[in-house]
Amino acid sequence: MATGFMAHTLCFWHDTGTAAGMVVADPVAGVQPDGHVESGATKRRCFELLDVTGLLGRMTRVEARSATVSELLRVHTDEHVRRVRNESAQVRGGDAGDGFSPVGRGSYDIARLAAGGVLELVTAVASGVVSNGYALVRPPGHHATADTGMGFCTFNNAALAARHAQAELGLNRIAIVDIDAHHGNGTQSIFYDDPNVLAVSLHEANCFPPDSGWVEENGAGLGEGYTLNIPLPKGSGHAAYLYAMNTVVLPALHRFQPELILVATGFDGAYWDPLSCQALIADSYRQMARLLTGAAERLCGGWLVAVHEGGYSPWYTPWCLVGFIEGLTGANGDLTDPYAGITAGYGAEPMLPHEQAVIDQTARLVPRITATVPAS
Ligand SMILES: [Zn+2]
Repeated sequence: MATGFMAHTLCFWHDTGTAAGMVVADPVAGVQPDGHVESGATKRRCFELLDVTGLLGRMTRVEARSATVSELLRVHTDEHVRRVRNESAQVRGGDAGDGFSPVGRGSYDIARLAAGGVLELVTAVASGVVSNGYALVRPPGHHATADTGMGFCTFNNAALAARHAQAELGLNRIAIVDIDAHHGNGTQSIFYDDPNVLAVSLHEANCFPPDSGWVEENGAGLGEGYTLNIPLPKGSGHAAYLYAMNTVVLPALHRFQPELILVATGFDGAYWDPLSCQALIADSYRQMARLLTGAAERLCGGWLVAVHEGGYSPWYTPWCLVGFIEGLTGANGDLTDPYAGITAGYGAEPMLPHEQAVIDQTARLVPRITATVPAS
C-alpha cells in the first residue's frame, strides 16, 4: 500500500500579499513592499521537486474537499470562522486575527480546502486506502488557536484532523508531534487540558511566539502531563533533534499508545531558513520521518499523517521535504540532494551540553504519560 499525498493548486494561490519578510507592507511606516515570506512559491517548488524526483508518482493522490463549517467549529469559535470568511471576502483581503496572518481574497475557501483535504487524508489512512500520508497544504495551521489566526496560520489543520479522527473515525488517543522550528502554541492551547491528545513540540526556544513553549508548560487539569515542549537553544541541529526524538518523542509515544500520529512538519528549522536559527539538514528530516513512521508501525498500524507547516528557504525547503517523504515512504527519489556535500559537516556537529540539558529536562516529564487516560 502506498503513501497518500494531498495537495491542491488553490493552496498555492492563497494570497498573502506584499510584505517585507513577515511584516505586511506599509510604505507609510517604512515597510518596503516585497513578497511575503509565506507565499505559494516555496510550496509550489516543493510540489515540483517531488514530481521531478519521481516521488510524487510513487504516492497515491488523495483529493481535497472543503471542510464544513461544523467541522471547523469542532476546534474554532464561530467568531473566528466568521472573521476569516468576512476578511477574505474583501477585494484586497484582510487578516485572520493577529495582524501577521494575511488572508487574500478567497482564502476562506482555500483554508477550508486545506483543512478538508487533511481530514480526507486521515480518513484514507484509517480506511486502508493508503498506508500513511502527507498533506502539502497552506495556509498553515499550528499557531492558530481556537479563536484567532496567528503567525501566518488560519485554521489549525492538525487539530481539526485530531478532532475529526475522534468524532468520525472512533479513535480516542491522538498524538501530534510538531517539528516546525516555531512553537506549536495553537495546538497546545486547543488541547492543553485534554488527556486524549498528546501534543509534543520541538522548537527553537523563545522564537515565535515570544515567551511560549517552555518545558514547564506541561498541560493542565485532566491534561496535565499530556503537553510536552522541547525548547531547543538556537543553533540546535541534527544531533540534538535526533537525541530529542529518541529520548523524548518516541518514549512518550510508546507510553501514550496513540491510535493515530499526526506530524506538523515545518522545514523552517533547516540551516538556511530565514525565520529560525536552527541547523537541521535534509537528512535530519529523513531520519525523523523514519523514526516517526517506525513508531506508527509499532504502535498504531502505521497510521501517520503529516501536515505541512513552515519552511521558507525557496531553494532548500524542497530538498528537506524530499528527505521527509523518503523517510515516510521508504522509497528513494531519483535525484540526490545537491546540497548534501555542503551540509554533511553540519549534520556531523555533535550535540552541545546545553542542548542536551533541555532535552533531558523534558525527558523527565515523560513518565507522567500513561495510555490509560482519565475520562474527560
Ligand atoms: Zn514555523
